[in-house]
Amino acid sequence: MRSTHGVTPPVQAIFFDIDDTLFSTTVFADKARRAAVDAMVRTGLQADRVEATRELDDVIAEFSSNYSGHFDKVLDRLGQESFAGHNRAVIVAAGVVAYHATKWRELKVYDDVYEVLKWLSGTSLVRGVISAGITIKQAEKLIRLEVLEFLTPSAIFFTDQVGFSKPNPKLYRRVLQRLKLEPQHCIYVGDNPTHDIDPCNHEGWTTVRIRRSGRHSAEEGATQPTHEIRDFYELRRLLQDEYGVR
Ligand SMILES: [Mg+2]
Repeated sequence: MRSTHGVTPPVQAIFFDIDDTLFSTTVFADKARRAAVDAMVRTGLQADRVEATRELDDVIAEFSSNYSGHFDKVLDRLGQESFAGHNRAVIVAAGVVAYHATKWRELKVYDDVYEVLKWLSGTSLVRGVISAGITIKQAEKLIRLEVLEFLTPSAIFFTDQVGFSKPNPKLYRRVLQRLKLEPQHCIYVGDNPTHDIDPCNHEGWTTVRIRRSGRHSAEEGATQPTHEIRDFYELRRLLQDEYGVR
């Protein structure tokens, strides 16, 4: 755990990013993609699993994770002969079903995240979420992760609904306006140095960078977080020892 500068008690609210903060988006996505490719091969796709998985990763990188035709694109790339004698829609459906089944099974918060959010729900802090992405997908994650009961219902914000996206500092400003909170009493916990930490620093929040895994773990932002942690147990210690949260 690393800290850079002082803080302004009392803390009134703590907000969280979702992806690669509450759960390992990176590991989860990898498992779901592999399961999808395996299912497509079992259904008749004639392709090397490694090659098909690489094409799927490339399609997602090129067309974004929110594009709806990933598996169709993979078949386009692998060519007609990869599904000769089969209806391609059935192979695509096998991929989609396996992907979603994995999603149901694997989407879980880290144990320390569950335990510490539960602990936080017994404190007087407002417990919020500020998340970027497609609203319904991000909302669905909160339900599937089974942490909704620990959060403050009025403090859940998705960028599409607020009208500002990360890393625009106005996103974070608007959230606090809505809740009538001051930034010097608020903490943001996120994994992305440029989209989570820099804008919140700009707005005068206390920032906590979680650096555990995920695609942003090796990146650096323009500014330093107030604190850096590896898991939520460190967050709890920090809140107890430095902010007097009980
Ligand atoms: Mg994130």
